[in-house]
Amino acid sequence: MAFLDELRDRAADAMQVTGKKVEEVYGATKVKLQIADKQSAVRTLYRELGEIVYENSKKDEPDFDAVEDKIAEIDLAFDAIEELKASERKIKNTVKCPACGEDVDKEANFCSKCGCEMSAE
Ligand SMILES: [Zn+2]
Repeated sequence: MAFLDELRDRAADAMQVTGKKVEEVYGATKVKLQIADKQSAVRTLYRELGEIVYENSKKDEPDFDAVEDKIAEIDLAFDAIEELKASERKIKNTVKCPACGEDVDKEANFCSKCGCEMSAE
């Protein structure tokens, strides 16, 4: 990803911060883009699933395997998104709120979105 390399170099020049911080921003941006890619893939899969269901409605013998295969593909994409979000939380030093799923700073006592008390690990 040439764009990201460029971004990293610029960030290193522009910010008077340690190398660790630059790598953190670089890593978080990269993961964010990967998540956006996967979310876009899910939208494509949803559309394809819709086409399959529609075509099935016109058939005398519907192809349920095709529907199940597409749903399995969507499940895999969601699993991949969850994994990417987990690495994003690791990079950003946040944890997932057990109540609402928001990313909350590891040191925070309460969720900034729903106010749920964050238990110390
Ligand atoms: Zn919350």
